[in-house]
Amino acid sequence: MTNINKGKVVLIGAGPGDVGLLTLNGKHWLQKADVVLYDHLVNPEMIRFTKKSAEMIYVGKKGGIASMEQERINRLLISKAHEDKIVVRLKGGDPFIFGRGGEEIQAIQAAGIPFIIVPGVTSVTGVAAYVGIPLTHRHLSSTLSIITGSNEKNQGDIHIDWEKIASRSGTLVFLMGARKLPQIVEKLIHFGKNPDTPIAIVQWGTTARQKTWIGTLGTIVEISAKDKILPPALTIIGEVVNLKSTIEWYEKLPLFGKTIVVTRKGDQANSMIDRLHELGAEPFFFPVIETIAPDDWTPLDNALKTLSKYDGLIFTSVNGVRFFAERIKAVEQDIRELKGVRIFTIGPKTAEAVRDLGIRVDVVPENFVAESLIASMENIKGQRFLIPRATVAREILPEQLRKMGAIVDVAPAYQTVLPSQPVDTLEKRLKEGSIDVITFTSSSTVTNFLTLIGKKLLPEIKKVTIACIGPITAKTAREAGLNVKIMPEQYTVSSLMDAIENYSLGRGGK
Ligand code: SAH
Repeated sequence: MTNINKGKVVLIGAGPGDVGLLTLNGKHWLQKADVVLYDHLVNPEMIRFTKKSAEMIYVGKKGGIASMEQERINRLLISKAHEDKIVVRLKGGDPFIFGRGGEEIQAIQAAGIPFIIVPGVTSVTGVAAYVGIPLTHRHLSSTLSIITGSNEKNQGDIHIDWEKIASRSGTLVFLMGARKLPQIVEKLIHFGKNPDTPIAIVQWGTTARQKTWIGTLGTIVEISAKDKILPPALTIIGEVVNLKSTIEWYEKLPLFGKTIVVTRKGDQANSMIDRLHELGAEPFFFPVIETIAPDDWTPLDNALKTLSKYDGLIFTSVNGVRFFAERIKAVEQDIRELKGVRIFTIGPKTAEAVRDLGIRVDVVPENFVAESLIASMENIKGQRFLIPRATVAREILPEQLRKMGAIVDVAPAYQTVLPSQPVDTLEKRLKEGSIDVITFTSSSTVTNFLTLIGKKLLPEIKKVTIACIGPITAKTAREAGLNVKIMPEQYTVSSLMDAIENYSLGRGGK
């Protein structure tokens, strides 16, 4: 029955929420996956690690209700593996702590499909760390029990031995108990646990939505009664809970509690995401731009053959530099042809990309927009310029230079396209008002974002704080009716991050 193909299932624990808690092995297999089946609890930022061609299938379960029945998930895993594919099953936390990882593997094993298991940081330890409660402590607790707070379908009671659990001295952690809190507390007190025992309930731990309620067995139901505690939440019971007030750290970070959408892909996105993590925000990765080769290389190839006839070469973006350099190699041209050609760039990142090629930049205008470059140019009548850039871009630069008497060749070096990617999680978060800021780093990020999810959710998007890298992007966003509140003085990604940090955020949305 076992087939000799490369098809296999990789069961990966994605950790409790913060993408940084995915293991290196988990990341490795995500990068190799042909198909990814992911859950409700998995951070969507992880799609950043998948191949462009990977098929993403959402099989989320919310609060115990299977959105896609377990049987169907098992069948899907098996059939995709039979198609010779590397099938990743991405589950919240650790796959072998509740959440049916064992059952899925048994089904896969019975079907004769090879499998690999990558453990994850369970919410038990991950959430405890982010909330600042050590689960064991030499003076307070030397045992740890991990208990399900969920009952089987159609059964009133939770199937555990309450008497034994209540008499344990160490730390108790209940998973899946959000809706059963009153029942859990009542049983523990009934079977003799001291009503003064400290208890913490943590919802959406390790994410921007982390929320904690603290009390004792005797008081917690009342304390949390005014809020509706929804899954995922876990409950920690024991003396160790008292350590939170001295150890808590995550909730004190400057951007804690903020979910910030990153619409850019590539290096820019990675530096934004890293910075947001450091500040305690939860970056929500939602790339809306993909850069690919232009449909037609002819204009650029022609220009590359006669590089030395140009007086100036103008780069308007990092992508322009990158694709230009790659094309020079591809057509076996020589960068030495650029000798004597003045190099202009818009923006410091673009300049850096040119310098990375070992080429000196002659002019970087003060402001990082085309207008500023135009203003810095004098006596260019009769001079010849080459602008390698996106297929579709603002025409102001070539138009103005021509008006000033220059001869301008515009050569498409790349084009941007809409990526295909799942929108369900972002839609859900926008509807519940739990997105605080959406960042845009170019006009096309604005238009693509609106194309991808704007039609249905424009009223929700209008309520969110918008951060734009510069005035052109801001203008595009404002024209679409968006609420632009953050714009840095310098039009760079790192200044944009500073501006977000400085902006004192009232909780956006509802
Ligand atoms: N395999 C998972 C648990 C799956 S059961 C793990 O190891 O963490 C789902 C339960 O996990 C939820 O009901 C909740 O109790 C807990 N949980 C998962 N992620 C959580 C989070 N970010 N914050 C709080 N509880 C979480």
